[in-house]
Amino acid sequence: MIEASKLTEEFGCLVFNDKVMKQRLPKDIYKAVHKTIEMGTHLELDVANCVAAVMKEWAVENGATHFTHWFQPMTGLTAEKHDSFISPVDGGTVIMEFSGKELVKGEPDASSFPSGGLRATFEARGYTAWDPSSPAFIKDGSLYIPTAFCSYGGEALDKKTPLLRSMEALSKEAVKMLHLLGYSDVKRVNTTIGSEQEYFLIDKDFYKKRKDLLFTGRTLIGAPATKGQEMEDHYFGVIKPKVSAYMHDLDEELWKLGIPAKTKHNEVAPSQHELAPVFETANIAVDHNQLTMEVMKKVADKHNYACLLHEKPFEGINGSGKHNNWSVCTDTGMNLLDPGKHPSDNIPFLVFLMAVISAVDEYAPILRLSVASAGNDHRLGGNEAPPAIISIFVGDELAGVLKGVEEGTAYEGQGKVQMAMGANVLPHFTKDNTDRNRTSPFAFTGNKFEFRMPGSAVSVANANIVLNTAVAEEIAKLYEKLSAYSGDELKEKILEVLKEELSQHKRVLFNGNGYTDEWVEEAAKRGLPNLKSLPDAMPYWISDESIDLFTKHGIFTKEELHSRYEILLENYSKSIHIESLTMQEMVRKDFTEGLVAYQKDLTKEIIQKKSLIDGACAEHETGILKTLDKASAEMSKALDKLAEDTKTAEGKTEVLDTASYYQETILADMDELRKYVDEAEALIPDKYLSYPTYGQMLFSLR
Ligand code: ADP
Ligand code: MG
Repeated sequence: MIEASKLTEEFGCLVFNDKVMKQRLPKDIYKAVHKTIEMGTHLELDVANCVAAVMKEWAVENGATHFTHWFQPMTGLTAEKHDSFISPVDGGTVIMEFSGKELVKGEPDASSFPSGGLRATFEARGYTAWDPSSPAFIKDGSLYIPTAFCSYGGEALDKKTPLLRSMEALSKEAVKMLHLLGYSDVKRVNTTIGSEQEYFLIDKDFYKKRKDLLFTGRTLIGAPATKGQEMEDHYFGVIKPKVSAYMHDLDEELWKLGIPAKTKHNEVAPSQHELAPVFETANIAVDHNQLTMEVMKKVADKHNYACLLHEKPFEGINGSGKHNNWSVCTDTGMNLLDPGKHPSDNIPFLVFLMAVISAVDEYAPILRLSVASAGNDHRLGGNEAPPAIISIFVGDELAGVLKGVEEGTAYEGQGKVQMAMGANVLPHFTKDNTDRNRTSPFAFTGNKFEFRMPGSAVSVANANIVLNTAVAEEIAKLYEKLSAYSGDELKEKILEVLKEELSQHKRVLFNGNGYTDEWVEEAAKRGLPNLKSLPDAMPYWISDESIDLFTKHGIFTKEELHSRYEILLENYSKSIHIESLTMQEMVRKDFTEGLVAYQKDLTKEIIQKKSLIDGACAEHETGILKTLDKASAEMSKALDKLAEDTKTAEGKTEVLDTASYYQETILADMDELRKYVDEAEALIPDKYLSYPTYGQMLFSLR
């Protein structure tokens, strides 16, 4: 346990971070590495050799015997293969070795990772390449080296490579624009991310008893508990002692790994919680989020919990997301999305704000796709999460600023408003200039945007790849319109161009309640896309517009886009396939066992009662038995249909067609089957069921 007084010392104690490098690397080597990290420049092999030697020494001192290249293939998870540092020498002894080559490059066999057709055209060999901008760390006795993963032909097979590419693209376009606007000292622009992570905790023994949770991460059957989240008593509620102990342990583990875990609280649904870190550079934030999810599960296991990261583990109550707080910051320390005191005179702010608005409107379907997964489909569009329609909330203050831009009038800001709480003893403070809007999928929150659509289980890399690239493109377009001007003319031209852009894209701005049916209608009138499922949205990924965007900025080649298209669709179909098989098995075996046992006891009871008591009708018991019998007859039909349709799905070959079939037919079959199972389950006493019910899982945490 970390003592509070030691926290600043212990933070990042398992990380080969800047402080360690400064202490241990020769000065010139440290400078070279620093330059690579700060400026994204290339690193020479002699530098890598030196870093490797020092890194190994440090790792061994801290208990590491192995090293691993750590990467993020298209499985959505992370991958690792461990090699020990040992190297045999004469006399049957070993020394510990680690070379620059081993640090810089790894050669995992790429053929067992999803490649979406890239494998057919290229060799099975793959490479991992050290990403010096994300620090190495020690976990479970191994030195972890964050790496990018690509095929023999250089095609990206992971999430880090395109993310790094997109950060560079955005930086390039933003720097050009800032130079035009007179900020000539800016050399680089960084995307920053803070991703709030939601999760559920349930008792580990319960988890182990449910095949659906074990195999698919979500419950496929289960009648609702008599209490849900309607009392609104969990959000920000008192954290229970055992859960608090878990959260404390989790913070410590994360801090040791240099992950700046900051905020923790109970979320809306029972047993649901959230952890938010302090924001970091996009690339590191994405790595840290992957690690956070892993550590959450590991620490949960120690505390006899299972940590559920699925987007919709329980039907009928809130699912989990991962709010992606995103901003752009220069190397000179300027947050480009900070409106400052006078937003209407803040030209860089207005230009970057407009670029984000245009990007989100222009590329809404691709942004929607960046968060699409079988799991997240259950969440988006439900009456509790951001709808599948993408709109932007800017708040009253900015709406006023934008109106001023559009109408060419000066904006009289509301200034700082004093908060009046009606009791003198309470402190006096000024209000924020935007209220919150929890129903907007893309909300401006003071000096950053919060993209609320990403799901809790998947990497936020995709969302940021798309966001960075789309914004880079819009900045490039603005630059083209402005680059011929300077001085006062430039200022005038900027206002004119912003006005034009705004009139074109203001349809995406919406400050109202995004969860209402009126908004769905209104959005349709405005022509905003409402892509409810992954298969609906997927064709946009390989559309001409998408190919133009990503190839122009060097983020994805056409082949890489196609490969991702295949992988996403395949993953989607496979996930639902596994769900279907798991559900069938659970209903056939686990549920039926309980159903039959209860029916048997009921029948016995009815017969006994009637034989013992003259004139007894056993009406209550008979009623239950009848309802169960009826539900089980329907259930049996629904089960047969699901089984049959799943066989049909297995015979399909075209990826989009298959995914659509899973979405339209199999998910509907599963819903139908669930309806009867849940109806029956609600009547069966807990002790007859071999698995825990919703009530037990959600309300038993101490
Ligand atoms: P809110 O309560 O409005 O969601 P918080 O201050 O709690 O805002 O921040 C939420 C998340 O946003 C945190 O992870 C925080 O570190 C992150 N964040 C704050 N500023 C930025 C920024 N400039 N860029 C990216 N993320 C940021
Ligand atoms: Mg937030």
